[in-house]
Amino acid sequence: KRNVQYISTGVKALDELLGGGIETRAITELAGEFGSGKTNFCHQLSVMVQLPEDKGGLKGKALFIDTENTFRPERIVQIAKYRGLDPKEALKNIFYARAYNSDHQMLIIDEAKKIIPKENIRLIVIDSLVAHFRSEYPGRENLAERQQKLNHHIAQLLKLADIYNAAVVVTNQVIAQPDMFFGNPLKPAGGNVIAHGATYRIWLRKGKENIRVARILDSPMHPESEATFKITEEGLID
Ligand code: ADP
Ligand code: MG
Repeated sequence: KRNVQYISTGVKALDELLGGGIETRAITELAGEFGSGKTNFCHQLSVMVQLPEDKGGLKGKALFIDTENTFRPERIVQIAKYRGLDPKEALKNIFYARAYNSDHQMLIIDEAKKIIPKENIRLIVIDSLVAHFRSEYPGRENLAERQQKLNHHIAQLLKLADIYNAAVVVTNQVIAQPDMFFGNPLKPAGGNVIAHGATYRIWLRKGKENIRVARILDSPMHPESEATFKITEEGLID
């Protein structure tokens, strides 16, 4: 197998489920309803990637592309402290970009190749991958154009991941889509991103209180199974 590495999620049960953590040279999609923990997960990984390899990281930096204005530096500070990193350094090691629309989002990815090798960026986060595309290309009549743009975007991401041995993590909000035959199934809003190039999908759902359940779907190698974790002040923990 090609030379890939793993970023620990910081949750043992989840790392085991994932066969080590979040894989480089791949796109991992975090799918789930509002409040299921996608954004927290992204914050966590932006810290975890910075840890030395013996602590589960890649001693690298993160590029955090924020489309919904939900990045919280104070969360990074909390998580970094818990993981034994200097919070100021941890924040400096996260390159933050706010994407204002889908074209801007794609432009950021075009430009990213200039800083990724220079800054040793090993994790690219897009939270959320599809929100802009969905609002700018609504309805069935725009579906073809939306999918075509998304396909291009995902292909670009996969290329960056491969060239720079980086992990790409994208979020995808799940919404209920009424279906005449199947009732109200929960479906990822961006359609099947996996079908368009994402390698892994982690499905998140709420449990009791701060408990969350992660399930891996559509993976070429992992059998479907689940792991639970908690969202706390310190981030994601077992
Ligand atoms: P999503 O991005 O999937 O909508 P989030 O990652 O924003 O979900 O998760 C929101 C949840 O995280 C909230 O339910 C909240 O209870 C929990 N949360 C956020 N910050 C903290 C914190 N500091 N301590 C404990 N739980 C938190
Ligand atoms: Mg979110």
